[in-house]
Amino acid sequence: MADFTTLLERTRDAITNLEDQCIACGTCTTRCDLLESRTWNIHAICEESSDAIGGAHDAQSARLGIDAHPSLYQFFRSCESCNRCTVHCPQQLNMSDLWQPWRALLRGAKYIPDSDVGMIKTDCTWNTFSVYRHVWNIDYSDLSLLEVPSIDETEGATVQEAPARKAHAETLFFPGCTLCTYAPELTRAAYAWLNEHVGPTLLSTQCCAWPLECAGEVDRAQTWRERVIAAAKDQGVRRIVGVCPGCDRQLEIAAAAVAPGMEFVPLAQLLLDAGVRMGDESLADCTLPLSVVTSCNDRASIHGPAVRALFEHANAKPFPCADEDAWCCGAGGAVNAYDPNLARSRTCRSFRLCEQAGAHTLVTVCPTCAYTYAFERWMQAQEGNARWDGMGSLNYLEVAFDMRIDWPRVFANLTNMWQGEQGAWVAEQLSQSEPGSET
Ligand code: SF4
Ligand code: SF4
Ligand code: SF4
Repeated sequence: MADFTTLLERTRDAITNLEDQCIACGTCTTRCDLLESRTWNIHAICEESSDAIGGAHDAQSARLGIDAHPSLYQFFRSCESCNRCTVHCPQQLNMSDLWQPWRALLRGAKYIPDSDVGMIKTDCTWNTFSVYRHVWNIDYSDLSLLEVPSIDETEGATVQEAPARKAHAETLFFPGCTLCTYAPELTRAAYAWLNEHVGPTLLSTQCCAWPLECAGEVDRAQTWRERVIAAAKDQGVRRIVGVCPGCDRQLEIAAAAVAPGMEFVPLAQLLLDAGVRMGDESLADCTLPLSVVTSCNDRASIHGPAVRALFEHANAKPFPCADEDAWCCGAGGAVNAYDPNLARSRTCRSFRLCEQAGAHTLVTVCPTCAYTYAFERWMQAQEGNARWDGMGSLNYLEVAFDMRIDWPRVFANLTNMWQGEQGAWVAEQLSQSEPGSET
């Protein structure tokens, strides 16, 4: 992580830049309850930010300033960096340009503890995704893999032995950590489809490091993405086929720096181009109508329209806030680590919108949204809350490949991997401090 003075300078630069450009028109205020409840626009947040850290010169003085502005602190821990607020900004400003340096500053000042990073150090050999795959024997080593050395990689410490020669292919399938960790059969089915319909394809089991960025490890996240893209280029990749709009968005930024010309294509678009369509017969186990809920990372409408078109023959209702108006599913910004009830209320907002649309099944564009909706329904079942019993949810790939993710089993596995001997091993791996970090 950069030293604290640099983090302060970056945050102040962002504040000055946005404050200078914002004309305080208030458009953003009306598009998010976090802003509306504080009657804030970006200009007001910048003023509040300057009050808090304008005079700070080190972590201690920054903490004093931040502690004196609790509403500001709550805001930056509760904001998902989804940019719904600023998507119609007449000045083309982005909330994430302020959120990102602020999150890094909060991490640098230790408001975001090391324990929050330990689980999601996705640039290291062991993190919450790789330990899950290891414990539950999810292994892709028989496939052609993208090889990216972890930042802590030493001989004998890798999750799987590297093959003698690196595989080469022009296409890389980047399913994202949710799909490749919790849905290995579906990941394999999509990978096999790409090999058959597109040509030789590599599989990436890496994470795009968005969880690290949410924990304020912004530089590490960016370094990791550039390492992933550079490795892909080295293995001959020219196009990346994505499922998760969040991964695509982050990797595209890295590709602009280290592999300009790298093409990004949603898997949904390739399925559509190949003539795949899903009608009601593929949804026999779902209560219809369905509604396709788009991702807050897809404001440029790259994945969402293709997924909707895949269901054009199905009994479907339009989701009320789609594409550039999409709300976050509740997973964004790792807000659940700070305020789980707020994150859960955001998840239930999508259920309400689906209900308002007259639909009973949410079909997600993003696999992590599918995880989030399934987890909320599972939690409510544990709590004996029947409010959303009639609401179903699944990812479009489950329909396309006629497979269902067994989420209750995934959630049980996530609990059980912490038990007994393997639990001690998991705890040991996730508590290890990682090289390259000052934490
Ligand atoms: S919409 Fe843009 S210009 Fe208007 S208040 Fe918000 S950030 Fe400022
Ligand atoms: S949660 Fe999203 S819409 Fe709300 S302030 Fe943050 S970036 Fe803007
Ligand atoms: S963007 Fe989110 S879901 Fe996608 S791979 Fe990264 S962390 Fe996982």
